[in-house]
Amino acid sequence: MSEYMPIVYLHDAFMPIDQAHVPVLDRGFIFGDGVYEVIPVYSRRPFRLQEHLQRLQHSLDGIRLQNPHADQEWADLVTQLIARNDGDDQSVYMQITRGVARRDHAFPPGIKPTVFMMSNPMTVPPAELRDTGVSAITAPDNRWLRCDIKATSLLSNVLLRQLAVDAGAVEVILLRDQFLTEGAASNIFVVQNGMLLAPPKNHLMLPGITYDVVIELAVANNILCEVRPIAEHEVRTAQELWQTSSLREVMPITLLDGNPVGDGKPGPLFQKMYALYQDYKQAVRAGKG
Ligand code: PMP
Repeated sequence: MSEYMPIVYLHDAFMPIDQAHVPVLDRGFIFGDGVYEVIPVYSRRPFRLQEHLQRLQHSLDGIRLQNPHADQEWADLVTQLIARNDGDDQSVYMQITRGVARRDHAFPPGIKPTVFMMSNPMTVPPAELRDTGVSAITAPDNRWLRCDIKATSLLSNVLLRQLAVDAGAVEVILLRDQFLTEGAASNIFVVQNGMLLAPPKNHLMLPGITYDVVIELAVANNILCEVRPIAEHEVRTAQELWQTSSLREVMPITLLDGNPVGDGKPGPLFQKMYALYQDYKQAVRAGKG
């Protein structure tokens, strides 16, 4: 059986992924000089497309790169990409780099940005993981001070995430000056005294689309929720810890640095939020999201 060959978009055209090539002088390759987005697709409907495009604009502004497309053009490209790929649930990846030029740190004038988009089958974490929860470790947040930009230069995130894998854990919870920022590839929520806590959006974390959904669902369903700086000791003494991201959705963390979180099982607030999130996804599938 031949391997599934996704259709991708590169240099203004759609093609099978094995035919997509970028020149070695692309600044994405040379410097990691680019930004990206990952958009979940449920029943062939992109999830929170407008919010993803807004965050993309914020990232482009952050690296001073002009947006090569208007929102409607992006929406059309995403629709075409979804239609050309297999599966009702997909994960759309889009990346824009500053383009191809002789190697020099400063912005080269007048070059065309490289736009690359691909779609992969969406895989949600297995249900067993939600029943047991996952383990995480902590590490100092040694990334730059513009973590609100979804930049393709992810070297710190890569190294941090590998620390977790080496320790048999799935995520690293990052602490900067004794305060929680986020995970290496997710946002982190804390439950203390029955209250849901989330760190405020600022330059030290990525403004997660799932983070917004979770806070909206909490507010709409009378779950007490506070957005404020969260100290390291509150993370270490949490009743519940959750990670959120487009691909992991809401996932309970039940082991932190080898110690059980709360009673070591996914907590009641998690169970409630997970059910709300699934209902919300169902509504998105039905076109009511
Ligand atoms: N923070 C980081 C560093 C991430 O890589 C991600 C995943 N893209 C998130 C947070 C979660 O963002 P979202 O909910 O938009 O996937």
